[in-house]
Amino acid sequence: MSRQFDAIIIGTGQAGPSLAARFAAAGMDVAIIERHKFGGTCVNTGCIPTKTLVASAYAAHVSRRGAEYGFVVNGDVHVDMKRVKARKDEVSARSNRGVEEWLRGLKNCTVIHGHARFQSPRTVVVNDAVLQADKIFVNVGGRASVPAIPGIHDVSILTNSSMMDVDSVPEHLIIVGGSYVGLEFAQMYRRFGSEVTVVERGPRLIGHEDEDVSDAVREILEIEGIRIRPNAKCISLAKRDSRIAVGIECDEVPPEVLGTHVLLAVGRTPNTSDLGLDRAGVVTDQHGYIIVDDQLQTNVPGIWALGDCNGRGAFTHTSYNDHEIVADNLLNGDHRRVSDRIQTYALFIDPPLGRCGMTDADIRKSGHHALVAKYPMQRVSRAVEKGETQGFIKVAVDADTKQILGAAILGIGGDEIIHILLDMMYAKAPYTTIQRAMHIHPTVAEFLPTVLSKLEPFA
Ligand SMILES: Cc1cc2nc3c(=O)[nH]c(=O)nc-3n(C[C@H](O)[C@H](O)[C@H](O)COP(=O)(O)OP(=O)(O)OC[C@H]3O[C@@H](n4cnc5c(N)ncnc54)[C@H](O)[C@@H]3O)c2cc1C
Repeated sequence: MSRQFDAIIIGTGQAGPSLAARFAAAGMDVAIIERHKFGGTCVNTGCIPTKTLVASAYAAHVSRRGAEYGFVVNGDVHVDMKRVKARKDEVSARSNRGVEEWLRGLKNCTVIHGHARFQSPRTVVVNDAVLQADKIFVNVGGRASVPAIPGIHDVSILTNSSMMDVDSVPEHLIIVGGSYVGLEFAQMYRRFGSEVTVVERGPRLIGHEDEDVSDAVREILEIEGIRIRPNAKCISLAKRDSRIAVGIECDEVPPEVLGTHVLLAVGRTPNTSDLGLDRAGVVTDQHGYIIVDDQLQTNVPGIWALGDCNGRGAFTHTSYNDHEIVADNLLNGDHRRVSDRIQTYALFIDPPLGRCGMTDADIRKSGHHALVAKYPMQRVSRAVEKGETQGFIKVAVDADTKQILGAAILGIGGDEIIHILLDMMYAKAPYTTIQRAMHIHPTVAEFLPTVLSKLEPFA
């Protein structure tokens, strides 16, 4: 069977389905192909299931702190992982079904289940079908990287995907990788009742963040009993009876740690090696990311790459934003660009870290004449009332233009409140606008004017 379409979309991650809907609504004949689960990483093994698990872990944590709030839990708080998993599965499955039903219900859209490969720049083969289109969009995402660590084939390891099948509380979970994915699992499993050790190759956790943010996150995790082993230079794995030994060989002793389960959270690999990109002539970088221009076109006219596979973002919102850029440019004659967007994301530990714009290192590199203010959550009344005072608010501004350069909010509501600063950045408004606004009491956000009144020269 050979069929001509106006557009072919490969992958149903966070860009593909919305793009299909926009094209179909515009009267284009669209084919969208998915080889595995509709909705991709975020829906099935990423954001949605992990944030559902984080919510269960938070509830267990607050229950254990009952005495602080004046209530009594009769007996220990025990986590029933089967029920935690069932809740997570239900939330995730609802979303997965929603994506599939939405796509199948779209007029002008053909949904195909199977693995797609390019045969030429205008031809894609899936199952026994040959599809052709002048416009092809790649949204194939990525998967957990599994590097060639010594001993990796001798033990059974977990990734973010197989973690989704875990329905018991591991006795001792060792997490290799102290970045965003690893730390969310670390805290949630500690709260579920596991002993948890995080092994990190670098000198500190979330190494891209400012040092004070990284240090505060480490402290938050250590207070809950999570062991952090940084500077793990030579990581190795070995079987020891029913346990797994993770060799660390760092400056600190002991040189290895024994656990019952090992989660590898050491980065992501784009799903681009089995896509026939060479047949289409599409170029990737040395890590397999498809090289795109500022409007997400590959080197081959008529082929675009969106989402994690283009290396221009690693988040659901960056992938979704990719679809907006492409759809607006193609359908509305717009000129949206990737470089127009401002970096923003969150680390969903408790309390969460919300980030936008430049880090300290970025500011130093940029040469901006900057001012910075830092304010502890201990002095934010809403945080005190809630009994959740860990973390701080930090905002950097340009002294000359008064525009916000970047911010980190590590504290309750940090993942939400950061949007106030982000939107001010998009508006290119001076920070003084926030100071002249009236805010709701009692909230964390109402303290932003106070924080901004503490601006000092950036060291
Ligand atoms: C544990 C974890 C937690 C995360 N939490 C967050 C979070 O809280 N917030 C956030 O913003 N981001 C989070 N992310 C990142 C987020 O999940 C991704 O950035 C997001 O899913 C965007 O992915 P995507 O659109 O590039 O493609 P994906 O969602 O990866 O989907 C790609 C799809 O393409 C399909 N596919 C691949 N190859 C082919 C082929 N040849 N033929 C047909 N189909 C194919 C795949 O099966 C998959 O369904 C998290 C990631 C992980 C791993």
